[in-house]
Amino acid sequence: MNQNTIIKADLGVKFDYERIMESVNLHELADNLEYFVEYAKTTPDKKTALSNLYKYIFTFKMHLEELDDYDDDEGYDPWMIFDSNLAVNIYLEFHWPYGKEVDKAIKRLDGLVHEIRDSIIIPQGTILSSIEIEQIMDFLETKYSFCSKLLSHMPLHIVSLEHSCKYCHSFYLSDISEHGFEKDILILTHTHDKYNMPQEYTLLHELGHLLHTRTMEKPDTVPASFKTVMEEVFIDEMNATPREIAEIFANSFAFAASKDSKYEHSDFGKALDDAQKDIVCTYFDDLMKSI
Ligand SMILES: [Zn+2]
Repeated sequence: MNQNTIIKADLGVKFDYERIMESVNLHELADNLEYFVEYAKTTPDKKTALSNLYKYIFTFKMHLEELDDYDDDEGYDPWMIFDSNLAVNIYLEFHWPYGKEVDKAIKRLDGLVHEIRDSIIIPQGTILSSIEIEQIMDFLETKYSFCSKLLSHMPLHIVSLEHSCKYCHSFYLSDISEHGFEKDILILTHTHDKYNMPQEYTLLHELGHLLHTRTMEKPDTVPASFKTVMEEVFIDEMNATPREIAEIFANSFAFAASKDSKYEHSDFGKALDDAQKDIVCTYFDDLMKSI
């Protein structure tokens, strides 16, 4: 960071913490967080600098928890979509280095700056609109009672970020401690030219990850019943790692959910014969009935 920042820090000039919370995309967050990390490294009281920023994170976390609560007038939202700086704040709160000692926490935030810079590029293609997301969630509710069965105890935060990612255009993050399942978020970004995949499908795929993660309360673990599908449909991939099997599960869910609907796509499940397609679809019908 530039010389002025360091001089300001040495003089004890107050850091503008709100600037971090006002970041409207991850590029801005990386810039503002880097500015903070440089400030925190040079200020004589790193602990206060970190706890000052944490106060903002904590206030935001409380605000989120209020949104998640049941409202007597408006009922309960099983899922919510966030964009702009609220989306960025959710991303930051999710990655906040809770429980780490000061130097390690600052190092982790520095690491986050580098992770963002390594993966994020300016928006390339399209992103699902709130209405399109709502239509897909309503479709899944009608087909599987998906929202009322899986999201009724803890709302899902769908985060819509204004960038494309070099490696993917959606991802599902879950936080599972030794005490069990804590929270999850689903991140949608603009499509990347490299990935020729409709975003409706990527949302269904990530919701497939939510399905196995929320039911099993473990990362990269699918229900034991999926073994039958592996044996009958994906026999060549029986030796796949748990993470790879979780990907097969998520893809299978997206295929089954979209089958015979406007979200069906000719590329999905094209390697499967009709009998195998039936096995996959029946598996998810039965699994969702059992929840
Ligand atoms: Zn996946």
